Amino acid sequence: MIQEIKPAIWQILGKQPGRNVVIIGGTHGNERTGVEVVSKLKSMIESGRLNIIRGTLVLIHGNPRAIEINERGSEPHADLNRSYLVDLLEREPTGIYEDQRAREIAPLLIVSDVVVDLHATNKPSEPFIACADSSGHEQVYQWFPSKKVLSDPNYVLAGKLVTTDEFVDAHGGTGLCYETGQAGDVTRVDEVMRNVINLLIDQNLVEGEVRIPSNECEIYEMIEPIVLTAVGFTFAEGFGNGSWEPFVADQTIGYHGDVPLVATYDGVVVFPKIQELRKEGSPLAYLAKKVNERKKPPRD
Ligand SMILES: [Zn+2]
Repeated sequence: MIQEIKPAIWQILGKQPGRNVVIIGGTHGNERTGVEVVSKLKSMIESGRLNIIRGTLVLIHGNPRAIEINERGSEPHADLNRSYLVDLLEREPTGIYEDQRAREIAPLLIVSDVVVDLHATNKPSEPFIACADSSGHEQVYQWFPSKKVLSDPNYVLAGKLVTTDEFVDAHGGTGLCYETGQAGDVTRVDEVMRNVINLLIDQNLVEGEVRIPSNECEIYEMIEPIVLTAVGFTFAEGFGNGSWEPFVADQTIGYHGDVPLVATYDGVVVFPKIQELRKEGSPLAYLAKKVNERKKPPRD
């Protein structure tokens, strides 16, 4: 039985008790793979091709207004994935649509065991995972093909806890964002559907058997943002075209005006923004560095 419990939030209750899993697509409206995956899962369940036996599955189209206009947010620089302040529900509403939408979704995240928020990058990138680095997270992200995990223990992304996965973690669940590739590229929809169904089997919501894939991941940590200032910023040759461009210590990554930007460590550039998403005083990209490489993560 599938029920739309709030706008674009569908709940499917299994006959037996079990885990509570939430799958979100379209937290950013122009990231179409997640939007499609949620729509397809919904129609598979409606037509009886996918049965939820145990637990609860919640399917969400994160930001319906942004999905409607195929933009990141409902207005320029509005961002649902920066709206999940840990105490969101105790705060005064801001009047911004994304704040209101986060309040509709947050109660479902608070009671969830596992949340996968499907994203895509605005410049080219291989698929990767963004979440905290722990064995609990590894049990979830192992079902999503990725060679890289980007963690952010010091909240470099936004300066504080604000993303879907961080909000879920703060309330006792396990949250992750899966970056499926570049926004607008929908060639991975069927693959990501299969990944989600494998996760649902592993979480015992769906009957079936899956083999644990062998995932050898490199773990990266966000170190610092590149903040756009009044003098402007240009990337050096070979940088700014996509996530995971490697640099070495003392290499010029770009220029604030004519002042070179260098790091004191080897690392990678992640989440470079396209020109129209740049904003003075805000990050235009981030620097991350590899913290370890392993087959099996340490215990929590
Ligand atoms: Zn996104």
